[in-house]
Amino acid sequence: MTILRYGVIGVALLLTACGPRELEPDEPINNDNSERWNEAQDPFRIHGNTWYVGTAGLSSILIETDDGLILIDGGLPQSAPLIDANIRNLGFDTLDVKAILVSHAHYDHAGGVAALQRYTDAKVFASEPALEPLTNGRLTVDDPQYVADSDQGDFPAVREVVAVGDGEVVTVGSVDVKAVYTPGHTPGSTTWTWQSCALNVCYDVVYADSMTAVSAEGFKFTESGVADKLVASAGIIADLDCDILLSPHPFFFGMADKLERIDQGNPFINNVGCLLYAESSLQWLEQRLEAERH
Ligand SMILES: [Zn+2]
Repeated sequence: MTILRYGVIGVALLLTACGPRELEPDEPINNDNSERWNEAQDPFRIHGNTWYVGTAGLSSILIETDDGLILIDGGLPQSAPLIDANIRNLGFDTLDVKAILVSHAHYDHAGGVAALQRYTDAKVFASEPALEPLTNGRLTVDDPQYVADSDQGDFPAVREVVAVGDGEVVTVGSVDVKAVYTPGHTPGSTTWTWQSCALNVCYDVVYADSMTAVSAEGFKFTESGVADKLVASAGIIADLDCDILLSPHPFFFGMADKLERIDQGNPFINNVGCLLYAESSLQWLEQRLEAERH
């Protein structure tokens, strides 16, 4: 009896001392969406230096430069091996990834970053407000999806993250990728933009961050001021030089539909893509605010 009692006390002490358990980089995160989102997707060239290497439901973008590769977003932890395979299947070497950029610190886009960082030893870049959630693998209290006293939304922590200010660029070889802060979906949401050139024609590519007004139960977009942030961010995205719109979820930019039309010119080139995305964002927000009023 004594041994059992000490055993129980021991376990209780251990739990108190350790707090919530940290996730390993290769530990899968499973929920209602993860299997569908993580279905394999053949990699393909979007335009010029810009390639799609993500899964069917979670974007990862590869940018080729004359001195290494840039990767944007890492999907779920279990997406990392698929992204690695996609990069290699295109004839690139994952070890050449010098920079990993993060759109926002949620498990479905940042979850695979810790594993990819191990494969590549790349530096990870994100906005200043994204630093804390990324390095802890945990949502901050100001994230609309934050749930108090819960490990919901946790993902593997990222070792070293370099902060990029609003309007600053990350440069690898000949390519500059600019950070444009578009807060709302998360406090640190970042849109990344760069140029892709082919046959002497250059296009502005915009990886516009998620703009959906999704939250944990009880969160109010109006009272928190996040609704105003989303409206401002939609305006910023609408005003960007934008010939090719990409986004963290492929359905935001109609990837499957565009792939079906890939032999009819390049359907990814569309200079009203960002404008339409910004308009959709405002509609999603309006629906959410309507729901909050009831
Ligand atoms: Zn998200």
